[in-house]
Amino acid sequence: MSRDWACPRCHAGDVLAILRLPHTWTSASGNVVRGVRDVLVCARCDAGDPLTGPIVTYFAVHESAQPEDAALLARLLRRWIDQARPPKPDEDVLDAEAEAWYRGDL
Ligand SMILES: [Zn+2]
Repeated sequence: MSRDWACPRCHAGDVLAILRLPHTWTSASGNVVRGVRDVLVCARCDAGDPLTGPIVTYFAVHESAQPEDAALLARLLRRWIDQARPPKPDEDVLDAEAEAWYRGDL
């Protein structure tokens, strides 16, 4: 795990995974603004969360993703991704982001 990815919340924990969610909102002037919101899994902050705890535990034990655990990890990450919704979900973009994420890491 690289320390370059220290958690922005506690500034100490390793960031284990990042999910980029599309996030659309209306500005004060009435314009629709499109952006992304990063949702992080931190080895310290998220260890006690029922959704992200299993992911933190996995990386605490294994250090990095093991090929033979791809199905297990995919299940854990899918559960997290399914719950980590942006305020106004855009399903198509969300699915595309998740797909890209899977291709890169698993
Ligand atoms: Zn943290």
